[in-house]
Order: sequence, then C-alpha cells, then structure tokens
Amino acid sequence: ILFQVNGHNPDSDAQSGKSLREDLQEFLGREAPLHQLDDLTKVNPVTLETVLRCLQARYMADTFYTNAGCTLVALNPFKPIPQLYLPELMREYHTAPQPQKLKPHVFSVGEQTYRNVKSLIEPVNQSIVVSGESGAGKTWTSRCLMKFYAVVAASPTSWESHKIAERIEQRILNSNPVMEAFGNACTLRNNNSSRFGKFIQLQLNRAQQMTGAAVQTYLLEKTRVACQASSERNFHIFYQVCKGASEDERLQWHLPKGAAFSWLPNPERNLEEDCFEVTREAMLHLGIDTPTQNNIFKVLAGLLHLGNIQFADSEDEAQPCQLMDNAKCSVRTSALLLQLPEDMLLETLRIRTIRAGRQQQVFRKPCSQTECDTRRDCVAKLVYARLFDWLVSVINSSICADPGSWTTFIGLLDVYGFESFPDNSLEQLCINYANEKLQQHFVAHYLRAQQEEYTVEGLEWSFVNYQDNQACLDLIEGSPISICALINEECRLNRPSSAAQLQTRIESALAGSLCLGHNKLSREPSFVVVHYAGPVRYHTAGLVEKNKDPVPPELTVLLQQSQDPLLMVLFPINPKEKTQEEPFGLSRAPVLTVVSKFKASLEQLLQVLHSTTPHYIRCIKPNSQGQAQTFLREEVLSQLEACGLVETIHISAAGFPIRQFLEACREDQTLMGPISPSPEQSPHSEEATLQPLLQDILHTLPALTQATATPGDSDEATPAPVHC
Ligand code: ATP
Ligand code: MG
Repeated sequence: ILFQVNGHNPDSDAQSGKSLREDLQEFLGREAPLHQLDDLTKVNPVTLETVLRCLQARYMADTFYTNAGCTLVALNPFKPIPQLYLPELMREYHTAPQPQKLKPHVFSVGEQTYRNVKSLIEPVNQSIVVSGESGAGKTWTSRCLMKFYAVVAASPTSWESHKIAERIEQRILNSNPVMEAFGNACTLRNNNSSRFGKFIQLQLNRAQQMTGAAVQTYLLEKTRVACQASSERNFHIFYQVCKGASEDERLQWHLPKGAAFSWLPNPERNLEEDCFEVTREAMLHLGIDTPTQNNIFKVLAGLLHLGNIQFADSEDEAQPCQLMDNAKCSVRTSALLLQLPEDMLLETLRIRTIRAGRQQQVFRKPCSQTECDTRRDCVAKLVYARLFDWLVSVINSSICADPGSWTTFIGLLDVYGFESFPDNSLEQLCINYANEKLQQHFVAHYLRAQQEEYTVEGLEWSFVNYQDNQACLDLIEGSPISICALINEECRLNRPSSAAQLQTRIESALAGSLCLGHNKLSREPSFVVVHYAGPVRYHTAGLVEKNKDPVPPELTVLLQQSQDPLLMVLFPINPKEKTQEEPFGLSRAPVLTVVSKFKASLEQLLQVLHSTTPHYIRCIKPNSQGQAQTFLREEVLSQLEACGLVETIHISAAGFPIRQFLEACREDQTLMGPISPSPEQSPHSEEATLQPLLQDILHTLPALTQATATPGDSDEATPAPVHC
C-alpha cells in the first residue's frame, strides 16, 4: 500500500510474488474470492457468518490452514495430504526470508516461533498452545511441529551419524507412539483420542539446536482402564498386547487367542493404532529394554484378568461376597501375573478394614458386591496411573538434556478443548477450568503485548472493550468461596451430603456471581457455569466422591506385597507415600483432592506459559463423522463460538494488521531506496523521515479505497478497517 501510493515499484512485491494491487485488494477484502483470504481479519465485516463462509470456502478448496490475526486456524482434512508435510516444505518455511508471507501453515507458526527465540536481544522461551475439541487434530498438529523441529533444529553432527538410533530428535519423536499407546484410546469422537493433557518442552542450545525435551502430563483418564463407555475402548496398549503378542508371550501372559476380557471391549475393531511392533520399537529407542517391556505387558495382562473377577452378594451379609463362575481362575491368574499372594488379593478385594476409636482399633467388614467391584477397579486404576507416570519419567530421563546443555525452549501444549456434553461432571469442570485459564492468558498476553508495542512505537490506539473472564474464574477457583472451594470443603468435612445439597450450597454461596447461570430446566441436581465459550451444566451427583478419588489404604498395602520387579518400583514401601493415600477422615495429613492437584499443576503450567511468548493454533473439526470433504456449518459454528475465535479476530483486526520491521524496510532497497536513510543515521531520524510519508498515505488512503472498490459495490459494503 505504502509504495503504490507513493509511486515506488508499483507492480511487484519481491517476497510474495503478488502485485501490490493484489495485495491491496486482498487486504481490503474486496475482489479476492473468499477462499483466497488467508487471514480471517480480512473478512468484512467480521462476524461468525462471514468467518464461517470463509473457512468453508477454503476447506472446499482444500486449503486447511488460515490465519486469524495472531492465531492459526487448522481445519482437519480427515484425509492424508502427504505433500502438505514434506521435509522440503519444512525447509521452504525455514529458509523463507519472511515465513509469515508464505501460505498459512503449521510450519509457518513453527518457524516464526523458532525465529522468535533468538530474534530479540535476550533469547525468550516460546510456547505454542494447540487447542480444539476431541478429534480436531491437536495431537496431529503437535506431532507435526515436533517433526518440523526435528528437521530444522537438528544438530548438524547428528545428521552425519544418520544411522545411530540414539539421535536425540528421533528419540523425542519416539516418545509419541509410546505415550499414545498408553494414554490414547478409541472413543466415540476420535479413534485415537488422547486421554491426558501434554506439555512438551523442546530444549534448545545457544545454536538453537534441539538437545533434549521434557514432558509433563495432566489428568490421565485412569477410570478408562476399568470402565469404558459402550462403543468405546480401553487404552490402545491392551489391544496391542492381545493382538500382537507371539505364541510364546501369549503362554507367559496367559492371553490365549480369542480370550474374552470384560475390560477389553470391541476387540474386533482393527485400528492402525493397534500396532504393537511400533510401540515396542519406540520403547527400545527410549532405552526401555525387552525384559522391562515384557514386565510391563505381563502386568497389563494381570490387570485384564483382574477385570474378569466378578462378585455376587452373599446371602449372609456377614459373609464376604461370592465369586462368580470362572472368577476363581481369574483371581489365580491375576495374582500370578501381578505376583501377589492370591489369598491376600481376594481378601483385600472383599474385606474392608476400618480403624475406629481412640486406640484406632481395626474392624473388618465384608464388602457388598458394588464395593468389591469398586475396590477391584481401584486397584487397576492405581496400578495403571502409576505405570503411566513411571513411563513418563522414564521417557523424560531418556530425552531430557543435561541442565547445562540448553538455554531456551519451545513448549508445545496439546490440551483438551472446551467440553460440553449432556452430562458433565468433575472431568469437564477441570477441563473447562483449564480452558478459562488459557483463554485469560491468551487475551491478557495479546492485549498487553499490543499495548506495549504501540506505546513503544508511539502509536495511538484505543482498545476494544474486551470483557475479561475473571468473573468466571473467580466463580470456579476464587478464594475463600468458589465452586472448587465448596467441593473441596465437602471432601474435607467428609460428611454425608446429597447431590441436591451440594447444588443448594453452591447456588446460595455463589448467588452473587454473574457467571452462575440459571438452573431451571434440569431435573437432576446440577449447577450452570456461564463460560466464555458458553454455558455448561454440571451434575452434582458423584462430584464429591470423584474429587476425593479415595484409595483404601489396604489396596496400597496389597500392591506393596507384590514380588513383581515393576510393581515393587511403582509401590515402594514408603511411609511418606502411605499417608498420601489414607482415606478421608483417618489421616491428619492434608489430603490432596483431584481439584487441588489439578489446580496446582495448572498454576505451574501457567507460570511456565507466562514466562514464554505464546503462539496459538486452534484446531477445528469440520464434521464429527471424520469424513473428508464434508463441512458441517452447525458443527463448525459451535467450535468457533467455543474457542472465542470471532472475538480473537476482532482484537487482532482492531489492531494494526500489517507489521514490518524497520530493518526489513531498510534492507529492501528496491522499495525503500528513495527514502531509506543512510545506515549511520540513528533510528530516530529514520522514523522522522518516515513520518511525513506515513501522514501522506493516511490522507491518500480513503481515496484509494474508493478507487479500488469493485464495480457494483455499494456504499453499505464498508471497507475493512484500516489502521496506519
Ligand atoms: P483428542 O482431544 O481426542 O485427543 P485431537 O484433537 O488430538 O483429539 P487428533 O488425534 O490429532 O485429534 O486427530 C484426529 C484424527 O484426525 C487423526 O487421527 C487423523 O486421522 C486426522 N487428522 C488430524 N489432523 C490431520 C491432518 N492435518 N491431516 C490429515 N489427517 C488429520
Ligand atoms: Mg489428541
């Protein structure tokens, strides 16, 4: 725009190859067909409808990435597009003078992030927050970014030792199949759904080469190990073991072909994620040797047999529960594989010990069938959660660089998106709470960054009147009274309280909050939180119990008796740990509830994010059937609302959408030749030279806007807001 107005080099822009006229037209949102608008800030006016139309046009034109100001929108193509992710393309973005001028792409975000690390005087850590609903493509995108950095940030020496399996980039990439095998599962919404949140820190040395990485995980859905919704599956690894074990291993792990396991639903579905060999190979590269792997798989087989132990209430309440047909065999096999004393396993599952009185006398009470089931499930959850954490720590020790060998990092956050189902519980409350925090971080960071930049540049700009989501966060996590505080209090007091009582408590204690919605329609006890992405109804039934996540101490004691080498590592006899899992009311040590633990890890994560310059990728699922070439407007619309995209675009569009470094202007001799001052001049005098020119353009622009309007455009098609 600048140079066309002033008559300099009107026909070509050397970087993008587009004529300035095209650039200008695109910028003004005129003549360019919708699918060519590569930045949603250019649609005019910015509304949900126009944004939706633009994304739809691009999707149908097989264009899956679109900028939205400071955010990249990634539409899931639901079909392989190998040419979009070739190493050559990675290098093209990596070597481009201005990657942001190339087509929007996840590599463009990757490259800009990478350059940001060192583009400033002091290197600054960076982060890329990838969000979106289940199946939208977060994990795919994060993997893509990791592959990108494995290519562009590989150390030159390691390229030479091409064949060595221990190359750090390769090892980091190998962490993906392992974590996905143990932490992902087939759900109704995604065949490879991550059932945990993940933040991976890619560590860079002074030369910006990747020297290591560290993984942090959040909120693994451990209940899945013992309870799968109909049409869903357990974690992939169970199917991998059952389908991929050799004859010999089958014998060792008591997994005869075709054996039925209650915790292994829908085994007939064959997914590409079922490949045992890939997981084993990746584990080997991460330093998990074959005996250790076999130990892990043996324990998993033990859990499957544990799941087949079925109880039936005994006729005499004073007697322990009966074992259903074949359950005896399952107890024996499970005890054998987990290397537990068989009698003790059965006794612990069926008899509860209660301590009471001043002397802490021990009473033994037979459990009901439901209680036995809960205890059996609890053993499995306990083992699986610890196994997962242990694996993460093993992976970390294998990929983490020595403290002295890295100076900066790029963090990738693959986090569950906002969730709203007909039945929402503690899991959704935690997930949506995390999303509120991330949204606040995004807005605060973006607005603050703009404010600071404009102040430094001496530009006048009034901020859009953005409504902060602090009120909603106060409602969820505030002190002293909030939803989390009230749920925690119920756990602490350990009093019997019904779902209806909890609803009443929340509604009366927090009645003053504007974000506590009206709760008129529901028959079930519940409360409504008005999130930035929309209202969500949370059912109060089972909320307190889930928050306690109680582990009867006898179960930990049982697992501490195991002679299995892996279980001995996972359940060391350590008094400190024992108190952590005392049931509520028995221990004097403060008990960490699910909410408290989640809040603490979220705060830690935000602290890390605050110390970085964040970048955002919003993944969108064009349809819930996973079909290519299908763009369902209603479904996309709800996701656009949920991620506050239009608001983001408004914020971005209200700022100055085109930025150019003075340095870059000075270097571009063709364009700046006539006005560029000599390098000896101070930057201030450069600005002084440019000021009159900018004023000039400001005055010329309205006329220019009219001159470029498409014939037939009427006055109501107001030109896009232009700020100079
Ligand atoms: P969840 O929250 O359930 O973990 P997610 O957002 O991580 O979901 P992904 O597992 O990344 O979703 O993506 C779901 C599926 O969509 C992938 O398994 C893949 O088949 C397809 N997919 C996603 N992104 C792309 C892409 N860029 N190109 C081709 N296919 C893709
Ligand atoms: Mg995922």
